[in-house]
Amino acid sequence: MIKTGDCVVCESSTHLFKHGKYLCNSCDLFFRRSMEPWSFFGDCKHSWDCYKVSGTRKKFPKCRHCRFNKCVDVGLLTVSRYTKFADLIKYLFCLDANREHTFLNFSISSDFDTNNFLDEKPTRFIKKTHDLTFDCHGWAIMNKLSAIEKLRSLDFPKYLSSKDLKYFFKGAYFLEAMLTMAMRCYFCKEDLMHFPHGVDLFPVSVQEAGKIKLNFLNLIRCQLVGKFIELKITREEIIMISAIAFSNPAVPDLSFTGQNLLSCYQKLYTSSLLQYCLTKYQQNGPARFCNLVAVLNVATQTYENILKYLSLYQYFHPDKQPCKFYQSFQRQLD
Ligand SMILES: [Zn+2]
Ligand SMILES: [Zn+2]
Repeated sequence: MIKTGDCVVCESSTHLFKHGKYLCNSCDLFFRRSMEPWSFFGDCKHSWDCYKVSGTRKKFPKCRHCRFNKCVDVGLLTVSRYTKFADLIKYLFCLDANREHTFLNFSISSDFDTNNFLDEKPTRFIKKTHDLTFDCHGWAIMNKLSAIEKLRSLDFPKYLSSKDLKYFFKGAYFLEAMLTMAMRCYFCKEDLMHFPHGVDLFPVSVQEAGKIKLNFLNLIRCQLVGKFIELKITREEIIMISAIAFSNPAVPDLSFTGQNLLSCYQKLYTSSLLQYCLTKYQQNGPARFCNLVAVLNVATQTYENILKYLSLYQYFHPDKQPCKFYQSFQRQLD
């Protein structure tokens, strides 16, 4: 006789046993298909608990949000979601290549609305014309927007509520933008962060005025790239570090469901990086892993220094603030 049990997700009776648990065919298919880049589909129409009531044998509502969160909850999220580590890396590389392409070649259209670039709809970019040159604020906007676009195209944000999606973007965009900028400079064999075409991170007037110490500006420019150089970090490692950073569940205001989802993804990325280190560096793997995780501290320090710089800038140069557009763009992210 074939043994049957309750599907761990929808509780319907099944004889299929996968990943060490009873999992019905329909839930298995659902979870595998949830990788596909569906567009966003609104919030849960109940109170995010469609799949929580158990043992009542009632049919669960058709809610993709809650079904997906339940799948993650019961432990279906493993690296096998991407078949193997090489596929996970390929997947993240592909998203990052799109981000870099957008960052370097595109600009925002004239109808860009600073009020809604953090919602579900993707931002519409337009190809940059040859005569368009960016100053540091123009590049900063594209740096942040292309990072947000990469985060939006990941497989899990579509299962966050629209509120959580905003909190997720706000919590993750800066480190993502900074790590990828440092990565580009590092692979161009440079020892400091700057925007493309030699555009400095800071307005020329700031350096000329000399009110903010040059040492401090240099620390911001060099600390993160310096760490990359010291570790001779690989592209795979930076991409995994960035994934661990953007899936950080300690985001202000994020709901419990949102925190849980992010933390499952962060565990997946962290254990994948550890596995990568053990395979590549053998007995030095654990030490390498610790050194890589320390990159996150350096990134956070640089982020804090940038915040410090911004308050100094406001204090010393109240007359030279960026344009209104930049200010209202940045206000959405603060
Ligand atoms: Zn099921
Ligand atoms: Zn629901």
